[in-house]
Amino acid sequence: MTATQAFVIVGAGLAAGKAVQELRESGFDGHLVLYGAESHLPYERPPLSKGYLTGDDSFESALVQPPDWYDGHDVDLRLGTRVTAVDPVARTVTAAGATQRYDKLLLAPGARPRHLAMADDSGAPVAYLRTVEDSDLIRSRLHVGRRLVIVGGGWIGLEVAAAARRAGAHVTILEALDLPLVRVLGPEVARFFAALHQAHGVDVRVNTEVSDIAANAGVASVTLTDGSSVEADLLVVGIGVSPDTTLAEAAGLRTENGVLVDDQLRSSEPDIYAAGDIANAYHPLLGRHVRVEHWDNAIGQGVVAAQNMLGKEVSYDRLPYFFSDQYDLGMEYLGNVGPDGYDQVVLRGTPDEGTFTAFWLRQGRVLAGMHANDWDAMDSIRHIVRGQRMVPDLDDESVSLTQIAEGLD
Ligand code: NAP
Repeated sequence: MTATQAFVIVGAGLAAGKAVQELRESGFDGHLVLYGAESHLPYERPPLSKGYLTGDDSFESALVQPPDWYDGHDVDLRLGTRVTAVDPVARTVTAAGATQRYDKLLLAPGARPRHLAMADDSGAPVAYLRTVEDSDLIRSRLHVGRRLVIVGGGWIGLEVAAAARRAGAHVTILEALDLPLVRVLGPEVARFFAALHQAHGVDVRVNTEVSDIAANAGVASVTLTDGSSVEADLLVVGIGVSPDTTLAEAAGLRTENGVLVDDQLRSSEPDIYAAGDIANAYHPLLGRHVRVEHWDNAIGQGVVAAQNMLGKEVSYDRLPYFFSDQYDLGMEYLGNVGPDGYDQVVLRGTPDEGTFTAFWLRQGRVLAGMHANDWDAMDSIRHIVRGQRMVPDLDDESVSLTQIAEGLD
């Protein structure tokens, strides 16, 4: 039925890699075209700020599929080729001056790092972290005694800080708010991450922003709004990303904080789907649209978009999930607090010793949960958070998480 059809995927990241895999494994036997602006096969980005950055993991281990998989599955790979236009009426995409027809199109171009113009214009050595080349550049500068200043206390900032400290570099993190990660974790939990980095010798400067950067002989002199200053051999800027909606907007798709899609990841054009960092998808459990910039979302949405391109009508209802590794702390987080925020945090375990679980609640309902260094807790957290409901005994540590989760059945 599909042998004469052409399915086109724009963006050769993780969501795209998972989509082509799912299409072939589900029996799609038509023409499958994968465009990627980067010249690499689809790869996972989490190692870029973790094991690949430290030199522990190879690039090959980050590939979504081994190189020969694409030939073996008859994927028309067009790497190093940026799609410049989508025409939903003619049902074509344009790249390198040529047009390609599609029957179904998946947009998965990901996101772009937000730039700090003051740093870019300063002439100082500046790095962002999105691609494997970015990670290579930062890694090449991580040496004993080198001075790294990281602008932004988000996930990139903290993971790069951990890798840099391991390499023996001096690290300063600049965070505009009270604590790194405070917007996503809240002060009750974010303070443990700040303490973790301070314990590893990171100079964590909060409530301050960059006011001036002067470059001299490859060294940046960074002046902060609190009047202090710091010198850097490399500035790493991790101040968030913007969904790459350029193509979608020009094609007339509905966009609002990304490409608006329904729970089956279908855009305002029925034959065009979106997945990964750009998809602002209606989430049936949360009852609102949510855009998630994490690894697990790219995997799950890539698969579900592919299933729906094949007409399966699958709803994407996985709760947002992410993980991080910093020094000897590993954490996983599930759920989404959302725009209305939380009014209670339940902490269990021994946070000061780095092993704990945390839950965020609003009006008694559990919205999100995480663990730090308590991997066995994740099944129970999943069970507890998935219901988005009131959970008896959550703050009673004499009742185990397993018992609490089982009590919900
Ligand atoms: P992020 O996690 O969104 O954090 C950006 C941080 O920079 C926030 O703390 C933000 O503060 C701050 N910030 C924004 N503008 C700033 C400015 N002008 N000066 C100083 N600080 C500023 O983004 P990221 O760390 O750049 O990471 C990029 C993307 O990769 C994100 O989508 C992230 O989720 C993803 N990522 C995920 C992982 C993981 O899941 N483990 C690891 C690495 C990267 P405000 O909150 O106040 O804006």
